[in-house]
Amino acid sequence: MPEALGENTYQIDTGLYRPQLAACYLIEDRGELAIVDTGTMHSLPRVLEAISAAGARPEQVRYVMPTHVHLDHAGGAGQLMQACPNATLVVHPKGQRHMIDPSKLQAGATAVYGEQAFARDFGTLLPIPEPRTLAAADRQCFELGARTLQFIDTPGHANHHGCIYDQHSAYLFTGDTFGLGYSEFWRHGKPLLLATTTPVAFDPDAWFSSLDHMMALNPEACCLTHYGKIEQPQAHVEMLRDSIRAHVQIALAEEPLDPEGRHERLHQAVARHMLDMGATHGALPADQILAILESDIELNAQGLAVWLARRAKKGG
Ligand SMILES: [Zn+2]
Repeated sequence: MPEALGENTYQIDTGLYRPQLAACYLIEDRGELAIVDTGTMHSLPRVLEAISAAGARPEQVRYVMPTHVHLDHAGGAGQLMQACPNATLVVHPKGQRHMIDPSKLQAGATAVYGEQAFARDFGTLLPIPEPRTLAAADRQCFELGARTLQFIDTPGHANHHGCIYDQHSAYLFTGDTFGLGYSEFWRHGKPLLLATTTPVAFDPDAWFSSLDHMMALNPEACCLTHYGKIEQPQAHVEMLRDSIRAHVQIALAEEPLDPEGRHERLHQAVARHMLDMGATHGALPADQILAILESDIELNAQGLAVWLARRAKKGG
């Protein structure tokens, strides 16, 4: 069942891999709905259930707004758009063509996850007709009932990433740009925030300025895809900055070394960083951290290797 977050905002567990790994969000105002992030095609029944729990019908969905086109956020966008005939897909200009023709996205994700896991977890990506999509400009506003949702360009985790700011609630829907903050890792009322450097467009400098832009909005809460609502985000943002900096250090320490064995070394260093953060945060047990972050550690290691390759191409 969707969880009410106040301000006619609902959190939906998309059901990817395990409970509370990935969320998407439903906002309702005067009978109009917006859905931020979509989960995968397998999440569709949960989103439809949330729509009906909010007392609405899929025809009332005005916007579908994936924060970026990574598949845990946008893999089910095509199916959701089919189910919501009046919706417009609002998407980052650099993500738009991948929603219209998802074949490159499918090939890229198959390379990251492997063919079998891709088929099992993400199934089929459906193309979305171009006239139903809208490439959002930075700061572009979208009316929803009596409130305004604003698209904020937030590159860093990915160059096709935007956050959605609800000017009525002051909730900021952050996709992956406020990092990973899994529910299991809350201690003493504080989240543990970790960077996510998924392939292929990690850009630490862009990420730091995106965080500046986000915090300048003075949001009441950040709503993370991974996972849930974090109030007073200013109190926690430094932890995320630390984790981004640590990932940069890990990659730069690797840069001069022989590429042979690179992936294993990056993987181990990322795991060590997460264990250190967990230990400092509240003595989280190492086995729990490794179990919950297993796939993130692997993706972060892959993403850092891609970042190093991009730096090498540019001549450092
Ligand atoms: Zn992502």
